[in-house]
Amino acid sequence: MIKKYWKDFLSLLYPELCYNCDVALVEGEDKVCLRCYRDFPLSNYHQSEPNPLVQIAAGNEKVKGGYCYMKFNKHGVAQKLLHEVKYKGNSAIGVLLGEWFGKYLEKELTTLELDGIIPVPLHKTKRRKRGYNQSEIIAKGIQNVTGLKILNEALIRTKNASTQTKKGKVERWQNVDSLYKVVDKESIERKKVLLIDDVITTGATISMAAEVLAESGVNEIYFACIASGK
Ligand SMILES: [Zn+2]
Repeated sequence: MIKKYWKDFLSLLYPELCYNCDVALVEGEDKVCLRCYRDFPLSNYHQSEPNPLVQIAAGNEKVKGGYCYMKFNKHGVAQKLLHEVKYKGNSAIGVLLGEWFGKYLEKELTTLELDGIIPVPLHKTKRRKRGYNQSEIIAKGIQNVTGLKILNEALIRTKNASTQTKKGKVERWQNVDSLYKVVDKESIERKKVLLIDDVITTGATISMAAEVLAESGVNEIYFACIASGK
């Protein structure tokens, strides 16, 4: 009891603030206030026809569906939260985003009977620098809600993005097919997987990862991201 009063007292002095609107959080709220949570700009892409995420992988017939949590707006809530995860080392927000996303999709994901989640991998140098792969952290959150397996060892990123950014657009496209490689074919063969990335913008990288998975014998691929500007 004393501990609780002490905690309440401390939170009066140093309240935890909403990462989106800076209002002091109250009990039961975590990282964002209830008002901001209710106002998340949900994409509902999986209910749109055509689905913008499936469209980015046109030509890859294994890509069957796509789920995006929020619309990506400049300075919007998705950008703020993902910035914390990617550049401030705040992996707890990543897990929470995954859990919220998992709850949002729980019915759909259960119906799909997926074999597992594949987080789009980072190059090992980048992963080491950041300390974690944000897509993997988000996948963990989804796993907490759905119990889905994370197939973490199947796919690797063979090249670091920083070596790519200086090149021209055309050259980059020519290079992009060698970005990912399947290293454990057996674990994904004939499987139905959810390929997850934190943000999908042009869709070039996730499409390439999907291409490599399709070539390696995956049966069905579903895209998922926390935010997309599509
Ligand atoms: Zn708020």
